[in-house]
Amino acid sequence: MNGLKTVKEIYIFKMTNLNKKEIIKWLTTGDASELFALADTTRKKYFKDEVHIRGIIEFSNHCGKDCFYCGLRKGNRNIERYRMSEDEIIDTAAKAGKLGYRTILLQSGEDDSYDIITLCNIIKRIKSSIDCAVTLSLGEKSFDGYKSLKSAGADRYLLRFETSNKELFQKLKPDSSYENRLNCIKNLKDLGFQVGSGFMVGLPGQTYEILADDILLLRDLDLDMIGIGPFLAHHNTPLGGVVSGTLDLTLRTLAVIRIVMPDVHIPATTAIGTVEKNGREKALQCGANVIMPNVTPIKYRKHYEIYPNKICIDEASSDCRLCIEGMLKSLGRTISANRGDSIKRKPHIQ
Ligand code: SAH
Ligand code: SF4
Repeated sequence: MNGLKTVKEIYIFKMTNLNKKEIIKWLTTGDASELFALADTTRKKYFKDEVHIRGIIEFSNHCGKDCFYCGLRKGNRNIERYRMSEDEIIDTAAKAGKLGYRTILLQSGEDDSYDIITLCNIIKRIKSSIDCAVTLSLGEKSFDGYKSLKSAGADRYLLRFETSNKELFQKLKPDSSYENRLNCIKNLKDLGFQVGSGFMVGLPGQTYEILADDILLLRDLDLDMIGIGPFLAHHNTPLGGVVSGTLDLTLRTLAVIRIVMPDVHIPATTAIGTVEKNGREKALQCGANVIMPNVTPIKYRKHYEIYPNKICIDEASSDCRLCIEGMLKSLGRTISANRGDSIKRKPHIQ
């Protein structure tokens, strides 16, 4: 009121405004327990013990792009490709709705065989039959394409920038451009989507400096959701022989993100659970407040091999929801009953 700040306010201001040098220090200093505890306290302050679950439908593994890191790249001939029909997608979403999912996440490779009209139909049909939010993760589209998807009822969009380093981006994603990727994120924000972005930790050529810049770019973008995970080398890609990212650095990165962006939704991603068995539990204890169980029909799951050894792809894990409930209970966390929209206020233009 009189311009003076309380000690607590000053502390929060300091933490959310960490500079590059401070971020690198947190990413590299010996013992991460203080960092993790601080991130966990911050998560609890903003989101209590509620975890939002998003049911992910990986509806096509066809992709027109050739990203060096990804097993779905069009150059990979050792993959059985599939596409789910419109009806299959709707049925899968309906089943997820019955299981209690309040967010359906539709993800695919960049597969133009689903044109914008088809995608809009799918979104409209899901929204008219289930009381849920629809999140899309379909890659780069035109402004008008995104606009139609928004008008059809899509609520959120995930588009990782993958790395904030332009040179590295161009090397690893040669048929995209860094400028276009960032422009897509801007367009999505302008259109009123709740927007998520992120990157992979441990990409070949990624330094601590770059990683700190990745975090700072996330902060500049003022996002609603942030998804990160370790880079996991895939044998059928040009990066097959490269060392994968580690759990430790991924968790440190996640914890720093939570501290500098306290009000964003952060998932404990499948890649984190793949790099180590208890990875997702650990992520939920150092900043994450979201989990995204796979609801794709079992017969397709093993073919959506973005990276190898992905968890939750066999018969035994057909009911991810039960498994997730057990995991959350053991952590003293509960599944949120609401849609888990952004807790930031969004300006909307139509
Ligand atoms: N085609 C869309 C969405 C599917 S890919 C897109 O590219 O945006 C979803 C995410 O998987 C990518 O953003 C990338 O960050 C991640 N990914 C791809 N290959 C990976 C790998 N080898 N290890 C870990 N994550 C990977
Ligand atoms: Fe395609 Fe996305 Fe994989 Fe790139 S990361 S090859 S765009 S699915």
